[in-house]
Amino acid sequence: MRKKFVCEVALNRLLMATLSVMTIGALASCADSPAHSSTVPQQPSAVGKPAAQAPVRSPTTAVSMPPQPSESFNAWRDSFRNQALASGISARTFDQAFAGVEPDPAVIEADRSQPEFVRPVWQYLESAVSPLRVRNGQDKLAQNSGVLQQIDARYAVDEEAVVAIWGMESNFGTHMGDKNVIRSLATLAYEGRRPDFGRSQLIAALKILEHGDVPASYMVGSWAGAMGQTQFIPTTYDQYAVDFDGDGKRDIWRSSADALASTANYLQSSGWRAGQSWGFEVRLPAQFDYSLAEMTIRKPLSEWQRMGVQPIAGSVPADPNASVSLLLPAGYRGPAFLVTDNFRAILKYNNSTSYALAVGLLADSFKGGGKVVGNWPLSDVPLSRSERIALQEGLVAKGFQPGSADGIIGANTRKAIRAYQQSIGEPADGYPTPALLGKLRDEH
Ligand code: CA
Repeated sequence: MRKKFVCEVALNRLLMATLSVMTIGALASCADSPAHSSTVPQQPSAVGKPAAQAPVRSPTTAVSMPPQPSESFNAWRDSFRNQALASGISARTFDQAFAGVEPDPAVIEADRSQPEFVRPVWQYLESAVSPLRVRNGQDKLAQNSGVLQQIDARYAVDEEAVVAIWGMESNFGTHMGDKNVIRSLATLAYEGRRPDFGRSQLIAALKILEHGDVPASYMVGSWAGAMGQTQFIPTTYDQYAVDFDGDGKRDIWRSSADALASTANYLQSSGWRAGQSWGFEVRLPAQFDYSLAEMTIRKPLSEWQRMGVQPIAGSVPADPNASVSLLLPAGYRGPAFLVTDNFRAILKYNNSTSYALAVGLLADSFKGGGKVVGNWPLSDVPLSRSERIALQEGLVAKGFQPGSADGIIGANTRKAIRAYQQSIGEPADGYPTPALLGKLRDEH
């Protein structure tokens, strides 16, 4: 058991080394996952996009296989056609969109697998906030300054945040995914793990074609149906996409004005507060209660300050009454951040704290900031999926309640980890490390 564990860690490290040289292009492929997500904390599914997958390409393991469809694709399509027509899609739009469409095996493969390994959050941030991306973002801010000012005037969302999301989602419009959205969603609706999701997205996608916002041939996106420069799924498009350049079409594929304004509209609707920072790095006092580091725990900024939490960079870019949470992206041994409602607005876009941190730091980098001062715990390699499952099983064996052993470190698992950490006199940050798993295994 011990030897297997060591081998897994070694393999994990080897993989990390390989992944750390991944380029921006590869990072942009994160946009191809149903929603890029946290490398470390895995959270409930996003509002804007389907459940999060890790922001990295890595070996994958097949997960629970859904039952095979009981009917042929053609039979399914014909019955779905009735549903679509009842939803207001014209026969002409439907038949044109579905002409020659067959299920896409690559979509099914992507839908049924999940990564065994994830990158450490510091490596994820290193490529998300790379010097090249920062420079490109600064260029985009300059090139689009006119339209960004108009967008800011209309939606009151800081332009750096809008451009940072543009960079994260599609590498400033250059990586939108190249899959036919109708084909991907039809595949997911026919034989995906969540056919209801696929069907509702497919109807929303057909409505886009019906309205003529974009020709079918341009409606490309990720395997999971995230579309265009904003990587909106169709229902998010339906609610939040806007026509900002005034041509009557909400074209998030070919119009960067539409794409940027759509992102700003989404952030504004998600509670963005203009002029307030997404968050900032802090230093924690000695003997701090790390169990307070949970997004569900919100306190006024002034209360954190009374507890001795101090900003690393002198001034505090937020209202003293702002409702903020403490984030420890790599546990108590790593950097600490206080995050505001603007961070939560970014989480609505993609429910991953690593993603939101990357957007925030990238936005700050455009203005010359965005440097993390605290040291990352480089030896705390993230647990692989099988190790996370082993951790959950170990916690159960000790009488703790991490929920089902699914390899997802959610709120219940973090709570169980904290209880275990407290029981052995360790700081209760709820963060899973190889050392913690080793302890659980040794005690078995
Ligand atoms: Ca337009």
